[in-house]
Amino acid sequence: MKALVFNGPRDIQYETFPDPSLATDNSVILKVERCSICGSDLHMYHGENLGKASYSGGVTPFCVGHEFTGEIVEVGSQVHRFRVGQQVLASGGAPCGKCKNCLSGHAQRCAGWTAFGLSGAMNGGQAEFVNVPMADLTLQPIPEGVTVEHSILLTDAMCTAYFGLTRTNLEPGDVVAVVGLGPIGLIGVELAFTLGASEVFAIDPVSHRRGHARALGATALDPSEALPVIMDKTLGAGVPRVFEASGSKDAVALAIKVAGAGSTASFVGLPQPDVQLPMLKVLYKDITIRAGVASVIDQWPHLIPLLQHGRLKAEGLFSHTMALSEGAEAYRMFDRREDNVLKIMMTV
Ligand SMILES: [Zn+2]
Ligand SMILES: [Zn+2]
Repeated sequence: MKALVFNGPRDIQYETFPDPSLATDNSVILKVERCSICGSDLHMYHGENLGKASYSGGVTPFCVGHEFTGEIVEVGSQVHRFRVGQQVLASGGAPCGKCKNCLSGHAQRCAGWTAFGLSGAMNGGQAEFVNVPMADLTLQPIPEGVTVEHSILLTDAMCTAYFGLTRTNLEPGDVVAVVGLGPIGLIGVELAFTLGASEVFAIDPVSHRRGHARALGATALDPSEALPVIMDKTLGAGVPRVFEASGSKDAVALAIKVAGAGSTASFVGLPQPDVQLPMLKVLYKDITIRAGVASVIDQWPHLIPLLQHGRLKAEGLFSHTMALSEGAEAYRMFDRREDNVLKIMMTV
């Protein structure tokens, strides 16, 4: 088959890779139809180590990509919910499905959880075919009334946004700040209003991203003006619910600055290697810190009805559609943020 293959930092190529075969009885083989590139893929692209993965030393080539949808073409004997021919979307990774964390709805805390396409531990779905283990748990039939774009966003970005935003303990009437307006932050802005926020301050240095947030009803701010404007508008109190969706050093620092006394700040951005929390400020301001990787599977029941009822639209987030064969160029362009790129969908 053809796939996007990681050969080393900044060396992702469209090339021939062995076809997958059923890895376990609970696996399916998916014929991938669409996939997308995520901000977390860029950490790998740069050669920054993620979790247990190391990219800087010698790497055995693997297929990249953890956001994909497609059609089931082969089913293991222990798969009960799915059949050949079904259209499905996949969660960004697979848990063990048996431990206490998995069984209590916190699959991402599973010690055995493995991401697709971020290391040689499990090949990803920016490929013509991919093996998906624990299929009964990790796959979701494409829901009725949900667009192609939504299906891809449900593999990670939308779930990460919902997970991160709700962990601010947002209540109707609250003021919210969203720091970092990539696709996850922008979905967070829309979700904040859906969940009852009275005002959303949306912060990012890139003007077209602020424009997107403004169109959703947010007060969009450049980082340089965010602190004085927010302090003025909140009469010096700061923001009670802060959602950080960037992971950059500046974004994390600003999230703590705009957070008010007694606030909750929730972090989902994969941190740059040199990010630190200013603990003295956290302590003096009595900020409750939440940080985590979304359990994608566990967000679907919340998000799918919102999409089906039109309460969450998540529109205009895919700025580019390219073919999988153009994947090397897609990564290069996404990394350099050329052409106002927000998110890239690839068709297989
Ligand atoms: Zn992702
Ligand atoms: Zn587990």
